[in-house]
Formats: sequence, C-alpha cells, structure tokens
Amino acid sequence: MAVKAYNPIEHRFDVVVIGAGGAGLRAALAACAQGASVAVLSKVPPTRSHTVAAQGGINAALGNRGADNWRWHMYDTVRGSDWLGDQDAIAFMCRHAPEAIRELEAMGVPFTRDEGGSIYQRAYGGQSTDYGKGGLAYRACAAADRTGHAMLHTLYQQSLKSGARFFIEFVALDLLWDKEGACAGVLAWELATGDLHCFRSRQLILATGGFGQVFASTTASSICTGDGGAMILRSGLPLQDMEFIQFHPTGLYGTGVLITEGARGEGGILVNGLGERFMKRYAPQYMDLASRDVISRAVEQEIREGRGCGPNKDHVLLRLDHLDASVISEKLPSIRDIARTFAGIDVSISPIPVLPSVHYTMGGVPTTAQSEVITQAGVVPGLLAIGEAACNSVHGANRLGCNSLLDLVVFGKAAGERAGAHAGQGHAMLEAETLDKALAHFDTLRMSQGDATPASLRRQMQSVMQHHAGITRDEPSLMNGLRLLDKLWNQKLSSLNVRDKGLLWNNDLIEAIELDNLLRQAVATVASALHRTESRGAHMRTDHPLRDDAAWLRHTLFSMNDKGRFKLDTRAVRMEPGQDARSFAPETRKY
Ligand SMILES: Cc1cc2nc3c(=O)[nH]c(=O)nc-3n(C[C@H](O)[C@H](O)[C@H](O)COP(=O)(O)OP(=O)(O)OC[C@H]3O[C@@H](n4cnc5c(N)ncnc54)[C@H](O)[C@@H]3O)c2cc1C
Repeated sequence: MAVKAYNPIEHRFDVVVIGAGGAGLRAALAACAQGASVAVLSKVPPTRSHTVAAQGGINAALGNRGADNWRWHMYDTVRGSDWLGDQDAIAFMCRHAPEAIRELEAMGVPFTRDEGGSIYQRAYGGQSTDYGKGGLAYRACAAADRTGHAMLHTLYQQSLKSGARFFIEFVALDLLWDKEGACAGVLAWELATGDLHCFRSRQLILATGGFGQVFASTTASSICTGDGGAMILRSGLPLQDMEFIQFHPTGLYGTGVLITEGARGEGGILVNGLGERFMKRYAPQYMDLASRDVISRAVEQEIREGRGCGPNKDHVLLRLDHLDASVISEKLPSIRDIARTFAGIDVSISPIPVLPSVHYTMGGVPTTAQSEVITQAGVVPGLLAIGEAACNSVHGANRLGCNSLLDLVVFGKAAGERAGAHAGQGHAMLEAETLDKALAHFDTLRMSQGDATPASLRRQMQSVMQHHAGITRDEPSLMNGLRLLDKLWNQKLSSLNVRDKGLLWNNDLIEAIELDNLLRQAVATVASALHRTESRGAHMRTDHPLRDDAAWLRHTLFSMNDKGRFKLDTRAVRMEPGQDARSFAPETRKY
C-alpha cells in the first residue's frame, strides 16, 4: 500500500494546538501556564496569521468613555446575533472581556490611550448602552487601526517565552482518532523537509481560522481555507450554522480590501450617488453604525434601485474628508495608507469607493460554552475548538464588529486552561487508529492525474459562491449553486491535476489540499442556506423574508461523506445564560 512509504515522524504532547492566530496563541499560553507540554502547528509563520489584519478593535465594557456594563454588551451581542447566539457562551465572553483586556495590556499590547492615560475606546456598529435604550456605547479598545497586529505580535512573544514548541510551516492534514471515537492527535506535513509527522495529544485544540476564501471577493487572506472545518467533516462530524456569512459593508471597491468599521466609528459617513446619507432610511437611530448585515443589505438595495455611484452606479462612497486631520493620522493611519496605495485616494480630500465584501464566517465547529467540540450525541473526547474555526456560538447569525478578537482571547484562554489542566490529570495517550485513512487521503490528492488545476477549480467555486450564495439568496439560485458545486466536486474526484508530485514546498499540492477543504465548506454553506427557510441576521432569503422563531430558533448542523452526500439536522439554541446573567427573549431587531 502506497501510504506505508510515508512513515511519519512521531511526537507526543499533552496539548496540540493547530493554528497560531490570536485564538491558538492565547490557548497555547494558557495551557503552558498549567504546566502542560504544548505544540503549536501553523501553516504560515505565526505573525502572518490572519489575526494580523484585524484593524478596528476589541470590545470590552471598560466604561472609559461613559458608563458601560458587560450585561449591555451581552444584550447587544444577542441582538446582533439575531437571537441565534448561545447565551451561555455570550454571557461568558462579555463578563470576562474587561479581564481579558487587562491581561493583554499587562502582556504589552500597545493600546491607544485617551488624554487621561486610560485605554482609548471607540464606537462600533450595533453597540449601545442600557439594553439598546441609551445612546452609542464606546466599547472598542483599539491600537490605532492595527489592533490585530499589536495583539498577535504580543501574544507570539509571550508564547515563545512560555515554552510552547512551535512547528512552523507544518500543514495539518487530518485529525487522528482512537477506536472509541476520541481525538488522538493530528497528521501534518512539514513543507521545508517534505516529512510527514504524527502528533499525538491528550487534548487537541483546533484554532485554524475561517473559510472566507470560498468566495471570490473577500477581506480574508488566501490562507483562510477552513482547514479545521474540513478535517471535522472528513471525520464524519458536523459543522454548524454554515449559511451565515458576514459581508462587511465597506470593502474597497475593486479589491475587497477592508476599510475598517472604525472609520465610521470615528465619524465617517456613507453616501449614495445622489449624495444622500442613505442609512437614515434603513437604520434611523444608528445610521452608519447599524450592524453589518443591515448596512450591507442597504448598500445592495441602493445599488439595485439605481442610486449607486460611479459610471456603472455599482458602489457607494465612504466620506472621511470632514474629519479632523489628527483623527486620520492618529486613529486611522492604515486606512489613509490603504486608500492611497490601493485606490490612489487622499481621504482628506476624496471619498473612498466601497462595496460589501465577505468578511467573517459565523459557522464552524460546534462547541459547548467551554469550547468542547460537540455532535448530536454529546461531547467529543479530546477535542476543543476556538476562534473563527469554532461556532461556540457567540456570534449567532451575525457577528458584531470587535467581538471576534474578544472571542479569540476569552475562549482561547479558557480552552487552553481546560486542556492543560486535563492533561495534568494523568490520562493515557490514545492510540491513533485512523492514520492509514489520513495518509490515503493525502496520497490520493498528491497522485491526482487529471487535467484541471486546483487553482482553476478554486476560481470556479468562488464564482459559484459569489453568484449563488451572496447577500441575498432564494431557492432557485441556491439549488443552481448546489448543482454547480456538485459538478465541481465530481471534477475534483475525476480530473484534478497535481503536476508536482514532490513533497518539498509543493505549492501545487497545498492548493489541492485547500481546494478539497474549501469545496466541502462551499457545499455546507449552500446546502445549509437552502435548508433554512427564513431570514435571520446575515442570511437573507428573499423567498422567506421574515424571521421564523417558531421553526428556526435552532442551529443548523451539516455533515457529509467522502462521496459528497450530505445530511442536515438542527439543534436548539442555548437560551439560558447561567450564573447571574439574564436571558434575552427574541424581539424585533431594530437599529
Ligand atoms: C481585514 C480584517 C479586519 C478585521 N478586523 C477585526 C477587528 O478589528 N476586530 C475584531 O474583533 N475582528 C476583526 N476581524 C476578524 C478577526 O480578525 C478574525 O476573525 C480572527 O483574527 C481570526 O483569528 P483566529 O485565531 O481564529 O484565526 P487566524 O488568525 O486566521 O489564524 C489561523 C491559524 O491557523 C493556522 N492554520 C490554518 N490551517 C492550518 C493547517 N491546515 N495546518 C496548520 N496550521 C493551519 C494558520 O497558519 C494560522 O496560524 C477582522 C477580519 C478581517 C478579515
């Protein structure tokens, strides 16, 4: 059997973390603090992880600019999620947010300061005071507009100090399982040597980020291929809420590069081709700081009804030219640079052309509020998931800006502590029974002999997703999308071509692995969107325009086999927040 020739190198660690973004690094730090031996795998150097691109900030009810309260933050997050978020997880995140910021500050994150020396906080979309009855909340702590960069570098420095072992440019291929169905580790491929490695773990933490690359126009970097989610699907486990794709209203027109919501938090405004502040029609109270799903749909409607800008009336404008020069240079220096570099625009004189772009994937690996991976049958032993790869589900049907960086550090810390403490309880290392299956999958992709390159199939998939699973959806378009994806799936099986058969730095093979991973999640997105016959948060079905709590206050679960056959199921939303928090029953969502 060909797979025997691979002969992977063996490693044993108490805790293996796959992913060195904000979530993975925070988890590694916490697991090390418990005295566990910790390995961190990353397919790119840690400081290139996608977290580095995060701009606007990280939420916490510190109250540095007016009264604030973690319960108001919780209410906003539940409302932002269109009531699909699990309230135990949301309560946990919002309650622990101030402590998480203080920890980051103590580690050395260079937060921007206000005149009094406290951490500067800006307004952000969907953030209010007094359970939506007060004014805007100033809750987003920022390091200028480079918050993710500041956090990621600090967390990496701290993790190096903590003793975690880094395996950089190692591509995790598949999870390994024992015969009872507990996670026993992961198979990985080292790009620099071509060696395969078998990492055995007592606890494994998936922190592989989102899958934004299933779409053609996205703010997500090219490495965001949802590898962790695909490993889960190949293990026969479900993914949750895959239909919920967040479009950010202000991607730079033509490139999709993000113009942070922080620009509107600092006073930027959106105008249409008539020069109108069109958001007054859609969100009279919050205007340009309504939640992202609301603004993205508004932009789409303005363009559809002929009120777009430019010769083709196909975008809108973000104006910053009325802001004080010091606001631009101190609070939005990267936005000034992005506009100049990618659009040749001086933001102090000209507006920025913008269009919604895919930004965040709310769906992912379902977990408990303690980050344990779950199926309909209960908790999966030995496996935790955090960050954008996970669906824990604090963001529900729509994530609020600045709640992701928070999710990374709050759940990263808790998961790392949990895994590290578990490892110290003397549990045996499990035997991996599924190594041959994982090797066979790798070998099949590597030996593909057809005539379709991975890049060409990826482009076709991205185009299908862009046209059939966008901001608004309906049954005929989704059915058509599913049919086209099925065709691509069969093409992948029958005519994929990996020209380079080597194992050293084989980009062709990396692209094939990522294509396989993305395609599974493209199917999951479209099939789940077809299944959910209502509109909620980022999922807008024009043929089912209303939210239907009686039928759909439930999470979608999607699983599939290697022949591409899939199954859909649902599970109840956890409405009980526990401890001293109150539960928020569904209301009409207004901004
Ligand atoms: C442009 C932009 C701006 C944003 N701004 C904000 C903001 O201001 N505030 C906010 O809250 N959120 C923001 N977000 C969202 C936020 O940045 C992301 O959701 C978050 O950083 C994801 O972090 P993560 O740790 O889950 O994953 P990532 O940072 O994406 O890291 C994933 C890690 O997994 C590794 N990995 C993946 N697959 C494999 C594999 N097969 N083998 C080995 N390693 C693997 C990668 O190498 C990487 O280290 C922004 C997003 C974008 C796109």
